[in-house]
Amino acid sequence: VQLRQAEIKKTKTVCTYCGVGCSFEMWTRDRHLLRVQPTIDAPANGISTCVKGRFAWDFINSKERLTRPLIREAGPDGARFREASWDEALNLVARRLVEIRDTHGPDSIGFIGSSKASNEEAYLTQKIARLIIGTNSVDNSSRYCQNPATKGLFRTVGYGGDAGSIKDIESADLVVLVGSNIGENHPVIASKVKRAHKLRGQKLLVIDPRKHEMAERADIYLRNRPSSDLALVCALTRYILDHGLADEKFLAEKVNNVDAYRESLAPFTLEMAENLSGVPQDQLIEAAQMIGRAGSVCLLWAMGITQHSQGADTSTALSNLLLVTGNYGRPGTGGYPMRGHNNVQGASDFGCLKNIYPGYEYVDQPAVREKWAKAWGVPPEALSDHFGLDNFEMVAEAGKGKLKAMYVIGEETAVSDSNAASTQHGFENIDFLVVQDIFLSRTAQFADVVLPACPSTEKDGTFTNTERRIQRFHQVMPPLGDSRPDWQILSELAARMGHDWGYTHPSQIMDEVAGIADLFAGVSYERLEGWKSLQWPVAEDGTDTPLLYTDGFQFPDGKARLHPVQWQAPAEDADSEYDLMLDNGRMLEHFQSTNQSGRDGGTKPMSPDWFVEIGPQLAAERGLEDGSWVRVVSRRGALELRVVVTDRVAGNTVFMPIHHVKPNMNRLTGEHHDPVVNTPAYKETAVRIEKLDRP
Ligand code: SF4
Repeated sequence: VQLRQAEIKKTKTVCTYCGVGCSFEMWTRDRHLLRVQPTIDAPANGISTCVKGRFAWDFINSKERLTRPLIREAGPDGARFREASWDEALNLVARRLVEIRDTHGPDSIGFIGSSKASNEEAYLTQKIARLIIGTNSVDNSSRYCQNPATKGLFRTVGYGGDAGSIKDIESADLVVLVGSNIGENHPVIASKVKRAHKLRGQKLLVIDPRKHEMAERADIYLRNRPSSDLALVCALTRYILDHGLADEKFLAEKVNNVDAYRESLAPFTLEMAENLSGVPQDQLIEAAQMIGRAGSVCLLWAMGITQHSQGADTSTALSNLLLVTGNYGRPGTGGYPMRGHNNVQGASDFGCLKNIYPGYEYVDQPAVREKWAKAWGVPPEALSDHFGLDNFEMVAEAGKGKLKAMYVIGEETAVSDSNAASTQHGFENIDFLVVQDIFLSRTAQFADVVLPACPSTEKDGTFTNTERRIQRFHQVMPPLGDSRPDWQILSELAARMGHDWGYTHPSQIMDEVAGIADLFAGVSYERLEGWKSLQWPVAEDGTDTPLLYTDGFQFPDGKARLHPVQWQAPAEDADSEYDLMLDNGRMLEHFQSTNQSGRDGGTKPMSPDWFVEIGPQLAAERGLEDGSWVRVVSRRGALELRVVVTDRVAGNTVFMPIHHVKPNMNRLTGEHHDPVVNTPAYKETAVRIEKLDRP
């Protein structure tokens, strides 16, 4: 046994699935993962993990992993990939990017950074885009999910991150979940809420069209119609203000624009909210009183809010509600957009957005450009002074032939973007596409060059979880075959374009960021050793910030800003031809496009197939039962699926897991989006169902 123990390597890492950021030891022998072992010292999760963090790791050793660079070349039977050396592949990418930049201009090239890669890799992605190519066209998958929430926070409180920590959520008197199914999407946070609810009497209020597990546990559950959230939340806020439940002292001392905001709420009567949401007024009053009377409130929201054409405005309304009730800047309070990918927070924090440098410094401010130019050793004129394109705009411009090249890192854009046919057209139309990934994803299949990258288990780096917590992960095993860590690939590509940065370890990249971006001034690998972590902003002396806004809000006068919003009808609604609304979301056992969780082994056998959920009444009306086959048809396309009859959905709402990629669920969704942030309105998809005569 002694000998066997000695053969086991124990390495601290961070889960590569959701934004909870669970850390644990991986016990390995060679490339074999023997055990995932959490510890009480893990700052976000303690001894807990979910089924994905525990078991969904078979993809690391999948036979389908990419181990050699691939170059597409024409042949007698059409184009096909051939293996290439790293030198050949990187030289080709460098030469083509420089050619396209010099011929068509810097803004003819776009970069999509990875929300699964490290902070250091996000930094290098935007550094190549901004410094070498000269464009701000760099984005990440937060465009598909959390940008609306971040916008709502920027408008009202000033920082684009969760207000506090998971510990605050645990300690709140009341947790409000709006459009957020944490039971499946953020299971470890859900387990903490369940425990606080059961053992400590924490109250739980859930607002959601789908009666998921947390809704079943709620003290109050409001089942609202899809796309009615803004009206409902504003009506609750108005009731609170009108009935003496607001924190007037907090408003007077710490918040601007109070009077104008009160006036803006005039249209949001309980009657209006009832008409739009279908929630009876007495239930709305009960919910408003619960929020107004709670000593401390944490409000969690996610894709059920953000993936609408009013995602940013609804997120703003939620933050307004917290301000009106004085629920910022104290333990157990605040707004918590639940970040989806393990490092979607970090990809944005470290500059993979079209308008900001790392640390949320705006690219159109001359002083900011001057600072970054000086740090990077170029004149300020070398850096673009205007916003670039985001994911949504890049794909659209590629379809029109205006964007000539894209560099996509670890993102399954071809599957994840709405209206898959339109995305496919963009990728088919573009002159030069580079994809850096661990698998030959559906996106990679459109590429001209595919560069084989490593998962987090084969490299060093840091991730930032939903509570702004920067955590170190360590290399568990060597890269598979000829694959390489993303930071090395990006460094070598930069060197081939005349910028040899000389990084030999990701810690040097973090040191560079800390020396430039104030938000990360005190971040270093030394301060992240072992189970230590830092929540930004981090002062130069290493003091971090578990709870934001204790000394005021992130605006020049230190006061928060109430931001009025107006309700608008959804961009696509049910009608006589498409009479149902398609809700969609993640399942516990899987993640997004299933490139990781859908490989053989792992959690795939626990949930091997997809389905459409239909409420009992609708099923009876349409003659459907569990297991019936239906065709789900939208204005863009159709999918054939089995039916699950369940009271999780009701009325004219049906639900599908987003993991359906063969064919893709996004054949059904449209191009309509939130005009403020260009996030697709995935949840505003009208469909009809046709019964199929199939056993
Ligand atoms: Fe934790 Fe999320 Fe990973 Fe589950 S998927 S172990 S909740 S980080």
